Amino acid sequence: MALEHIDIAELDPAHTVVVATGNAHKLVEIEDILGRALPGTRFVALGQLGDFEEPEENGTTFAENAIIKAEAAVAATGLTAVADDSGLVVDALDGEPGVYSARYAGVHGDDAANNAKLLANMRDVPDAERTARFMSVVALIEPSGLVRLGEGACEGTVGHEGRGEHGFGYDPLFLPADTPGKTMAELMPEEKNAISHRFHALQDLCQKLAAEDRGADGTADSAAATTPEASCNAAEEA
Ligand code: IMP
Repeated sequence: MALEHIDIAELDPAHTVVVATGNAHKLVEIEDILGRALPGTRFVALGQLGDFEEPEENGTTFAENAIIKAEAAVAATGLTAVADDSGLVVDALDGEPGVYSARYAGVHGDDAANNAKLLANMRDVPDAERTARFMSVVALIEPSGLVRLGEGACEGTVGHEGRGEHGFGYDPLFLPADTPGKTMAELMPEEKNAISHRFHALQDLCQKLAAEDRGADGTADSAAATTPEASCNAAEEA
């Protein structure tokens, strides 16, 4: 899905958030959840505003990398920006591949090679010790430098072979605890989006933002929203 070009001069800085991704699906997912806490905000993908150089993701934690990406988008546009960083954390491998998930086997984004390396490294790990989790951190940064973080995880185990056609990355090898017997790649996109690490990280950030809004004027900002949780769950319950 191609995203339309937007002239940055058209945007209202007080009501715009730049999403540091070229991925249209991530833009929709982020807009859907954060929009509940930031009504009236327009979410635009960084790629819609021009060609910007991608920063080096040399952080040692998901939070550091999410902040690096969001800060670069703020510096490039002068607007509030949001970015996420995520990966797979395997207990039996002392947390690997972790922040190196995208380039575990050496080449950035080579999912087949990454999955083959993960299976090889876990060849002798028994079922009971194959616990793992996808983790995600979302960073929202304002031009003033104010940083807010949301964190989320999706618990599960690593299988012995790949299964399923959906998703990307390690999805064919990962069996979420929420969907027993099914790999992440066997779930429909909506099923994955309802349990994923990114969903939980965005919910966490949404609830932090909604709690701040309540604190500012002491009242909920919508009739349906009696708590930050209710505000951030609004679309799910509809
Ligand atoms: P990014 O933070 O979205 O760039 O993800 C970094 C890497 O983590 C990806 O290249 C994948 O290898 C892995 N990863 C992150 N999220 C997922 C997911 O939802 N499914 C499968 N792999 C993922």
